[in-house]
Amino acid sequence: MSDHFDLVVIGAGPAGEKGAAQAAYFGKKVCIIERSPKPGGAAVNTGTIPSKTLRETALYFSGLRQKGLYGVDLRVKHDITISDFMHRERAVVESTWALIDENLKRHHVTVLQGVATVVGPKAVAVARYGQPPRTVTADAILVATGSHPQQPKGVDVDGSIIVDSDSLLTLQKIPARMVVIGGGVIGCEYACIFAALGVKVTIINSKARLLAHLDAEVGEALRTQMTARLGISVHLNVEPTEIAVEGQHARVRLSDDSEMYSDVVLFSAGRVGNTEGLGLEPLGVRCNQRGYIQVDEHYRTAVPSIYAAGDVIGFPALASASMEQARVAVCHAFDLKYKQQVSNVLPYGVWTIPEIATVGDTEDTLMNRGASYEVGRSSYRINPRGQILGDTDGFLKLLFDRDDQRVLGVSIVGEGACELIHLAASVISFGGSIDYFIQSVFNYPALSDAYKYAAYDGLQALARRRAKIPGLPTTGSQRIVKTSTD
Ligand SMILES: Cc1cc2nc3c(=O)[nH]c(=O)nc-3n(C[C@H](O)[C@H](O)[C@H](O)COP(=O)(O)OP(=O)(O)OC[C@H]3O[C@@H](n4cnc5c(N)ncnc54)[C@H](O)[C@@H]3O)c2cc1C
Repeated sequence: MSDHFDLVVIGAGPAGEKGAAQAAYFGKKVCIIERSPKPGGAAVNTGTIPSKTLRETALYFSGLRQKGLYGVDLRVKHDITISDFMHRERAVVESTWALIDENLKRHHVTVLQGVATVVGPKAVAVARYGQPPRTVTADAILVATGSHPQQPKGVDVDGSIIVDSDSLLTLQKIPARMVVIGGGVIGCEYACIFAALGVKVTIINSKARLLAHLDAEVGEALRTQMTARLGISVHLNVEPTEIAVEGQHARVRLSDDSEMYSDVVLFSAGRVGNTEGLGLEPLGVRCNQRGYIQVDEHYRTAVPSIYAAGDVIGFPALASASMEQARVAVCHAFDLKYKQQVSNVLPYGVWTIPEIATVGDTEDTLMNRGASYEVGRSSYRINPRGQILGDTDGFLKLLFDRDDQRVLGVSIVGEGACELIHLAASVISFGGSIDYFIQSVFNYPALSDAYKYAAYDGLQALARRRAKIPGLPTTGSQRIVKTSTD
C-alpha cells in the first residue's frame, strides 16, 4: 500500500472523522490516525455522549421529569449503583463507535492506530503499538487532536476522590457528597446529573454567576431551579484556597474562610489543547499558552499544508462546531467550492436540568455595543405543551432590533430548549424579523408556540416604549401591535 495520501488526519474525534469523510466524499485518498483503540475522541468517550446519556439516565432513575405529575412518586429505583448508572452510557458509546467505524469504512478512509507526530509540512510519523513505526505523507494534513482537562495547580487528580470530567466516568460508586469546582457548562451539567441521583452537590464558582457567558437571566434561572428542584448549593464569587484529601474524603477550604467536606471533588476549570509532542512548533505552526493552534479563517495554520480544526484550536470547543470547522478546512485544502465558512450563527446547548439553549446576542453583548433592542418573553406556564410536560418554569426570551425588529438573539430555559433553538438560529441566519413568528402556524400544543407569544410580548414592550417616547417610527409588525397579542 502506498504511503502517500491526499489528506492525513490526526485524531478521530468529531473534527477528524467529519473532515476525513468530507475529503473522501470528494474522491480524495484519506488516512486517519488515532492513538486510542476506539474512535470518537472526547465527544464519544469522555464528553458529549457520556454526559448527555448520563443526564437521561439520571432523569429516568430519579423520575424527576414526571415527579408530581401523576400523583404518585415515580422514582424507579432507590439504590442506584454505579453499574446501573453507567449501563446505558456504555451501550450508547459502543453503538456510536460502530457508527463512526461504519462511516469511515463507507468512505474508504484508511485508519491507522498509533500516536502521530508531524515530522514535516507534508509528513506524519506514526508510532504503532506492537508494530513497526510508519511514516505517511500527504498533500495536506488536518490536525484534529482535541483537548484535555486542565490540571489544577498543586492538587493531584487521583481519579477517585479528586476527579476531572474524564476520570469522573471511572468512579467506582455514586458518592454521597460532591463538590464541583467551576460553574461553567461541564460543571453545571454534572452538578445537575449527580444531584438528580440524590447526591448532595455544592458548586464553587469564582464568578458572580453561573454560565457567565450566557444571558444573566438564564444563569439566574438556572441557579434558582438548581437550588429549588435539585437542592444544589451554589457558592458564587469564591475560590478554593486549599483542597486536601483526608482518608476517604476531601476537605475544601474557600476564599471566604468556609470549609466543607466531600466524597468527590470534580474539577471542571477549563481545557488545554493536545499539541504537546506533536512536533508542530519546530515546523512554524503557532500555538498559544494553552496549547491551542492558531489558524486563519480557512483553518490553515502558518504552514500552508497544515490545517487544524476542533478543540485543538480553542473556542468554541463544541463537537457541533468542530465538525463544521474540519469540513471547511478540508474544502479549502482541496479548493472544493462546497463549504467555505462555518456559519457565524452558532447555537449553544447546555444539558443542565433544566435544559438551556441560546443563539445570537445576549442582553450583555447588545448593551456592550450600544444596540437599541427590545425584549419579548414567553413562559412555558402559558403554553399548553409546557403544562402537559409539567415544565411551568421554562421560558423563551427573544431579543430583537427596536427599529426593524430583526431577531438578534434567543435564549430558552426548559424542556426541548436544545431542539427549539434551531428555529431561532434559522431566522437569525436569514436576517428574519419577529414577524416570522407572528405569521407562522405552529403545531398545537407545541413548545415552539412560545416563539409567537414572545414576539407578541415584544410588540407590547415596543408599544409601551412608544407610548413613553412619542414620535418613535412605526415599522413592520409594530403596526399590528394592537390586534396580535391574543
Ligand atoms: C464533559 C463534556 C461535555 C461536552 N458536551 C458537549 C455538548 O453537549 N455538545 C458539544 O457540541 N460539545 C460538547 N463537548 C465538547 C466536545 O466533546 C468537543 O468539542 C469535541 O469532542 C471536539 O472534537 P475534536 O475532534 O476536536 O477533538 P476530540 O474529540 O478530543 O478528539 C481528538 C482525538 O485526537 C486523538 N489524538 C490526540 N493526539 C493524537 C496523536 N498525537 N496521535 C493520534 N491521535 C491523537 C485523541 O485520542 C482523540 O480521539 C463536551 C466536552 C466535555 C468534556
